[in-house]
Amino acid sequence: MGPLSSLKWLNRFLDETPGDSQVGGPARQVPNVCWSRVLPTPAPDPRLRLWSNEVAAQLNLSKGEGETLGGGEPVDGMDTYAQRYGGHQFGNWAGQLGDGRAITLGEVETDSGVLELQLKGAGVTPYSRFADGKAVLRSSIREFLCSEAMYHLGVPTTRALSLVSTGEDVMRDIMYDGNRELEQGAVVCRVAPSFIRFGSFQIHTLMGDEETLRILVEHVVRNHFPENSLDSDEGIIEWAKVIASSTAEMIAHWMRVGFVHGVMNTDNMSIHGLTIDYGPYGWLEDYNPSWTPNTTDSSRRRYRYGNQPQIGAWNIARFLESISPMMDSPEILKDVLEFYISEYERYNDQMWAGKLGISEFEERDVELITELNILLQKVETDMTIFFRELSKLEQPEINDLKFAFYDEDSIPKEDWNLWLAKWWNRVEGNPDRGIMVQNNPKYVLRNWMAQLAIDAAEKGDYSVCESLYELLKSPYDEQEEFESEWYQKRPEWARHRVGCSMLSCSS
Ligand code: AMP
Ligand code: MG
Repeated sequence: MGPLSSLKWLNRFLDETPGDSQVGGPARQVPNVCWSRVLPTPAPDPRLRLWSNEVAAQLNLSKGEGETLGGGEPVDGMDTYAQRYGGHQFGNWAGQLGDGRAITLGEVETDSGVLELQLKGAGVTPYSRFADGKAVLRSSIREFLCSEAMYHLGVPTTRALSLVSTGEDVMRDIMYDGNRELEQGAVVCRVAPSFIRFGSFQIHTLMGDEETLRILVEHVVRNHFPENSLDSDEGIIEWAKVIASSTAEMIAHWMRVGFVHGVMNTDNMSIHGLTIDYGPYGWLEDYNPSWTPNTTDSSRRRYRYGNQPQIGAWNIARFLESISPMMDSPEILKDVLEFYISEYERYNDQMWAGKLGISEFEERDVELITELNILLQKVETDMTIFFRELSKLEQPEINDLKFAFYDEDSIPKEDWNLWLAKWWNRVEGNPDRGIMVQNNPKYVLRNWMAQLAIDAAEKGDYSVCESLYELLKSPYDEQEEFESEWYQKRPEWARHRVGCSMLSCSS
C-alpha cells in the first residue's frame, strides 16, 4: 500500500488514440479526436469524506490524498484528460456530449487488471457545453453509496474510491422550476476498467469519421477484449455479442433488485456491461413497472422500470450501427440484436427461477411468473420485502407476507393464496431457500434512505452515510440490528418529497 504516486500508472488511451492538440480551453466542438487533455480544478477546501477500503486495496493505495482526489495537482504518472463522446438522449441524437465533468487521472495496473480512475465534478472540460463541470454533494453521495451497494448486490457496476467535499458552493435548480439554490460541491473518484460508452463509438460514426472509429475500436478490443479479434466480420460479430450479452446480464440484475437507472441514454451505456453514471436512478418500492424516478421523463416514461430490457435492445442497435462501418457485410449485425434478445430471456428466466427458489427453470413457469407480476401490481406491494419474506415463507399463506403490503385490508387474499398454492406445488413445498436468499436482497438503497444520509451530510454529519455503507456491504444478510430502521417500506414523508419520489438530472 502506498500513495497515488507509488501506483503503476499507464496512459494507454492517450497513447493509442488521437487527441486534441489544445490543452483544456473553452467549451467547443473538438472534431476527429477521442480526448482532450485537461487539468482538474483544485478544490478550495478539499476534505476526504467517504472512502472505500476495498477499492483502495485493489489499487494498493493507502488512505488519504483528499487534495488530489478533490481536483488538486496530478501526481507523477497521471496524464489527465476528458473523453470525447456523443449519444442518443431520450431517443434523439444529441451530438457531442462529454465528458463534461469527468476527468480521468489515468489507468493503474493492478493484480486484478488495469483500472481507470476518474474524477467526477472536478471542473470544466472542452465538453462542458453550458454547464460548470461541478457536482453537488447530494448526487455525489448517491453515486458513491449506490455504486458500492450495487457491487455488493452482485450487479455489474463501476465503483467508487472516494468522495471529497470541495468547500465550494455550486448553484443548482434541482427541479428545473426556476428555484435556484446554492449547494455544497463534491468530487467522487470512480473506478472501472474503462469509462468507454456506446456513445464513444457513435460520435465518430455519426460524424462520418471512420478512421478515428477504427482506431478506437482497435484500442478497445486490444486492451479490453483481448480474446476477440477484428480480423473478419465474424470476429467483429463475436466481439459485439460479448457486449450484447453483458448488457443483457446487467439489465436482468437491475430487474432482479428493482433498480431503475433513469437515464439509459447511449452515452450512459458502458461497453463493459457495467452500471454507469448514477444520476436520477431509483429503486422500486411498490412494484410498479411503469415507475421512473426521473421527472424529466415523467410524461413518456421511456426509461421506466419495465421498459429497461427493451431500451437495452434499442441501445444495442445503436451500438451496432456505430460499428457497422467496420464490417464488409454490416447486415449480419442483426444477429447480434437477436442474440441480445435471447440472452436477455435466458438471464431473465434464471433470475425469476432464483427469486422463486426454482432450481431449474421450465417453460411452464412463464405462467406462474406472469400471474405473479399481475398480482404484485394489484395493490401497493413493496417489492424488496415481498420477495425477502417469500424466501422465508413456511406455508402458502398470504397472511404471513402481510408486512410487504402498505394497506393490509386491501390485500386480495384469495387471489394471492391461489397463486401461493400454485407456486408451493411447483416447488413441491420445498423452495430452494438458499438460492432465494441470494437473489432477493433484504437491504437496497431506497431513495428515502439515501435522502436521510444526504440530509445529515449536508449538515456535516457523515455518520448516516457510513452506517448505510456498512449495511449495504452485506445486503443479503439478515443484520437484525438494522431491521427496525432500514428493513421498512417507504415512510409517508418520503412519498412526495424531492429526492425520494422525484429526481431530476440536475446534479
Ligand atoms: P448525463 O445526463 O449526466 O449523462 O450528462 C450528459 C453530459 O453532460 C455528460 O457528458 C456530462 O459529463 C455532462 N454534464 C452533466 N452535468 C454537467 C455539469 N454540471 N457540468 C458539465 N457537464 C455536465
Ligand atoms: Mg452521463
